[in-house]
Parts: sequence; structure tokens; C-alpha cells
Amino acid sequence: MLTIALTKGRILKETLPLLAQGGIEPLEDVHSSRKLIFPTTMQGVSLVIIRGSDVPTYVRYGAAQVGVVGKDVLLEHGADGVYEPLDLRIARCRLMTATAVDAKPVVGKLRVATKFVNVARKFYAERGVQVELIKLYGAMELAPLMNLADEIVDIVDTGNTLRANGMEPRDTIADISSRLIVNKAAMRSHHRQVSALIERLSDAVNREMFSG
Ligand code: AMP
Repeated sequence: MLTIALTKGRILKETLPLLAQGGIEPLEDVHSSRKLIFPTTMQGVSLVIIRGSDVPTYVRYGAAQVGVVGKDVLLEHGADGVYEPLDLRIARCRLMTATAVDAKPVVGKLRVATKFVNVARKFYAERGVQVELIKLYGAMELAPLMNLADEIVDIVDTGNTLRANGMEPRDTIADISSRLIVNKAAMRSHHRQVSALIERLSDAVNREMFSG
């Protein structure tokens, strides 16, 4: 048996076509069902659909042998106990700093609001910038508007969310895309199934790349 933990939401929408190209399709519509575990067209392979930040945990403990998760989650929560053998090149975006368009230079400690406190701490420390990190769970772009923070660290795709709130991107911290992760022990115990999956997905990623 092989269980693949998938990140729900926008990553899931882009993952399913890749899996389908690799011969793995859920037996029922994952978007309309309230189930969390789905058998697939491939014998012995099932999907679980969970929050991105839980995917590395399921894979690290071997509850799922394989997972699909954003690089932002791996950077923030660490990737202990898992291999990251394949960049799926989907759900691509950037982790960036952003400020209000009319932001004035800050005297003293910079207040930074973000969900990505570990990534942000490392980024500013490497630049020798003193910051006070303010952990938020969503709507980071609200923080400068409400004078809670001078700057944010957030995911930027089109930049529309920033622009709609009078903000603009500044520095790119990391280019993000979704990655295939594999439990380290499962790489040996499920070698045949896991390496076949990596190969099929890798072919699907290459096909996508060359079809534009
Ligand atoms: P945008 O307005 O296109 O720049 O999208 C920005 C918002 O969409 C961010 O605040 C994120 O919450 C979300 N977002 C965009 N792309 C991704 C992605 N690949 N993974 C996770 N969240 C994303």
C-alpha cells in the first residue's frame, strides 16, 4: 500500500492533473466529497487530502509514504525525515518582503508581520537587520495598513493582493513551487512503488514543461 498526502486548495487543483498523467486518479470527485481518504485507479495507492502544514508531519512519521507540499512550508517548518526528490513546478510563486507604497524609512527595529517567522528571522538576520517579528495566521497585508507592522513577509503570485491594499513587493526571499516529498525509510521499504511514482511524475512534469 502507498499513501500520498496532498495539500488541499490551489496546490491540489494543480497536482491532480499531474497524478492523472501518472495513471493515478481518485475514484470519486475530491472537490465535492467530504472524505479525507480516497482510493485511486491505481491498485494499492490512496490519497489523503490535508492542510499543507500537516503534510510533512504525515510523511515524516510514515503515516503517508509520499506527499506534495509547497516549498514555503518546507522552508518554514523544516524537512527533517523526508527526502525532496522532485520539483513538480506547480503552484509557483515567490516568498517576498513587501511594504506600503508610501512607506517611510524606519528608525530603530523594523516590525515585520508574517506567517513565516522562521524564514523571516533567518532572512533579516543574514542581512544584519534588527526586527521584531509579529506572527499572523492570515491577511498579512492588513498589518501595515493598521500600523501593526512596517513590513510583511508573504507569498506573492500576481501581486494583485498587495496592490489592492496599497502595498508593493520589495525583496525576493525564495522562489516557491510544490515538491514531492518521501519518507526516508519508505524510500527503501517501498522502493519499487516510490521510484516508479517519481519516474511517472517526473515524466509528467517534463511533458508540462515542454508543452509550455
Ligand atoms: P496574488 O494576489 O496573486 O499575488 O496572490 C497572493 C495571495 O495568494 C497570497 O497571499 C497567498 O496567500 C496566495 N497564494 C498565491 N499563490 C500561492 C501558492 N502557490 N501557494 C500558496 N498560496 C498562494
